[in-house]
Amino acid sequence: MAKTYIFLGPPGAGKGTQAQRLVEEKGFVQLSTGDILREAVKNQTELGKKAKEYMDSGKLVPDSIIIGIIKEKLQGLQGKDIILDGFPRTIPQAEALDTMLPEVERKLDGVILFQVEDNEVIKRLSGRRVDPKTGKVYHIVFNPPPEGVEVIQREDDKEEVIRKRLDVYHSQTAPLIDYYKQKGNLVIIQADRPPQEVYNALINVIK
Ligand code: ADP
Ligand code: AMP
Repeated sequence: MAKTYIFLGPPGAGKGTQAQRLVEEKGFVQLSTGDILREAVKNQTELGKKAKEYMDSGKLVPDSIIIGIIKEKLQGLQGKDIILDGFPRTIPQAEALDTMLPEVERKLDGVILFQVEDNEVIKRLSGRRVDPKTGKVYHIVFNPPPEGVEVIQREDDKEEVIRKRLDVYHSQTAPLIDYYKQKGNLVIIQADRPPQEVYNALINVIK
């Protein structure tokens, strides 16, 4: 059966950075709800118009919209090893996923919690920059973009929005830690280490 992992953790924990590497080196498909929504906003689709205000203010997009997106994507990814990056983010999303997985012939192989303190998250997010052409993620201090690569700052990586997103994480997403602990699926990774060390820890889990 194809592998299915969830990357859980606060915004800025390094989930996307590590997922990109697993895509390049291990053939995983990264399913990032944040990326899907940003693409929709950029293309001004119906989805993008609905999602933009929530995203810019650091709130979660309503569950019904997100669950619909994931359902559609999962149907198109049968047989592929996947990483769910940034989904689920609420208990109702997790419950919907539990129902969905058997319908697409999957089971959960593990939920990997990227553990990082809030002050580190703030440093990472405030310095995050993205190459809009490739989607590659950089950091002005920890991983500066190569010469000649033009990068932008995300709207929601501004200081006030970062704090709001952290609040939202603690109130709405952190309850998933217990949810998956109880199911016996949770693996904790210390993510406040250099990217290579985090990757090594990940590879030990994803065999
Ligand atoms: P997430 O997908 O969890 O929101 P990202 O992968 O986008 O997080 O990483 C957030 C920021 O932190 C980016 O600027 C990235 O370059 C940087 N970063 C990622 N992993 C590390 C790490 N292990 N140490 C330092 N900075 C990191
Ligand atoms: P991310 O790129 O994961 O940091 O997500 C950016 C923004 O997209 C979040 O702050 C939310 O507004 C929205 N978003 C992404 N994933 C979800 C999700 N699973 N549920 C609700 N909103 C989401």
